[in-house]
Amino acid sequence: MKEILYSSTRGGEKGLTASQAILKGLAGDGGLFMPDVIPAFDFDPETLVGKPYQEVAWQVMKLLLTDYTEEELRYCIEHAYDEKFDTEEIAPLVRADGAYYLELFHGKTIAFKDMALSILPYLMTTAAKKNGVTNKIEILTATSGDTGKAAMAGFADVPGTGIIVFYPKGGVSRFQELQMITQKGDNTGVVSIHGNFDDAQTGVKKIFGDKAFAERLAENGIQLSSANSINIGRLVPQIVYYVWAWLKLRENGEIAEKEAVNFCVPTGNFGNILAAYFAKKMGLPVKKLICASNDNKVLYDFFTTGTYDRNREFILTTSPSMDILISSNLERLIYLSAGEDAASDRVLMRMLASGGKYSITREMKKNITDFTGGSAGQDAVAARIRELYEKTGYIIDTHTGVASAVYEQYRAETGDTTKTVIASTASPFKFSRAVMGAIQGDLGDMDDWAVIDLLKEKGGVPIPPAVEEIRTAEIRHNCECDPGEMEETVAKLLGL
Ligand SMILES: *Cc1c(COP(=O)(O)O)cnc(C)c1O
Repeated sequence: MKEILYSSTRGGEKGLTASQAILKGLAGDGGLFMPDVIPAFDFDPETLVGKPYQEVAWQVMKLLLTDYTEEELRYCIEHAYDEKFDTEEIAPLVRADGAYYLELFHGKTIAFKDMALSILPYLMTTAAKKNGVTNKIEILTATSGDTGKAAMAGFADVPGTGIIVFYPKGGVSRFQELQMITQKGDNTGVVSIHGNFDDAQTGVKKIFGDKAFAERLAENGIQLSSANSINIGRLVPQIVYYVWAWLKLRENGEIAEKEAVNFCVPTGNFGNILAAYFAKKMGLPVKKLICASNDNKVLYDFFTTGTYDRNREFILTTSPSMDILISSNLERLIYLSAGEDAASDRVLMRMLASGGKYSITREMKKNITDFTGGSAGQDAVAARIRELYEKTGYIIDTHTGVASAVYEQYRAETGDTTKTVIASTASPFKFSRAVMGAIQGDLGDMDDWAVIDLLKEKGGVPIPPAVEEIRTAEIRHNCECDPGEMEETVAKLLGL
């Protein structure tokens, strides 16, 4: 099999193995690691119909993580996708109202981040071993609500690692906040910052770029890595479930051999939908990738006009994990659309950093017509959640609601009848107040637990253990700081 090497989108680092790229997280020049070529499937997808999730994962991931041995990669997969998931299928596909919902929330923290963050700690510790790293690996992660909890659940008490999570105070749901501040594990740290998600993400990237700080850490036997979707070790496991969804449709006789499908993905940092694009590039029959945005519709505007412009009001919505104006992973698509030209990417990213804005060329725009953008405001999302419930009894969360509303618009506007899979990114229990508010109208002064009980009764599905745990969990973290104090806060938490 051909060895795949990784290089920075900005050209400053080249020729890393997959395990080295995973260990580093972000390239030293601020760019993101990309494979030098996106490999094609070396199997006929038809031969995988009916195979377990773990087998599909192995077939897909081995093509990109070529320096992991079969034994290593299978070890990571078997330990990640096990009883931590509440269904053997790992990611069930549910048909409702003319679309297919790919439920990516059956892991420990009931959001899609579990799909990649269940395996990342295994990939990371294996990578450390392979590369003779003896430093402690400290994971720094900015979160819009779900990554932080999923990453901590994965890394808690993993020997040789530590994790610090930054989340925007007031920018996550109360349930998301409780999930994080009650996190157990002696190697976990949680900090709320007085700012929004973009401030948290920019602050983390800044710490990664600070060479003096890296030296100070190294003297103490510590090196940094990232669990954000800028880490290629997040992207690769996410490709698997798109292949899996297509295989399920084949297995259920919903599509013919080689029939192309659409994927509609509720998008924030552009990591999830980028994985779908990789699946297409690798050979999965895919027609359109529908990028669904909430009121922070910077990506919708980008796909419509070719101009990315973050200079706008940051809006707090009922889908907080998508409240993002700087979608980091878009840089990977920009790089690809420029013909993998690091120089072009560098220029555009410099413009983004200085003026908050850039435009791509007509040529680049032509290279990304696989994508189409859509956006749905909060009222449209609430109306769609209610409509779907009234028609089918199926209850979706607010993020999935954005995608579902966008898909309805897309179908009406284009008349495209291609079978479409909607990425269902969180359990409705994670956002029960917004979800029940959509279905029921005014909830008055009903407390959070009463709302959760009501959701259970209406949806006819049991309350996930992740929710039950929160009822009685003790609060263990209460650290806060300004965006400018993040580095010193890290130093303090690490006891430097
Ligand atoms: C993170 C998240 C998203 C956005 O995914 P990206 O990969 O950042 O685009 C959507 N929905 C939920 C529930 C999330 O947690």
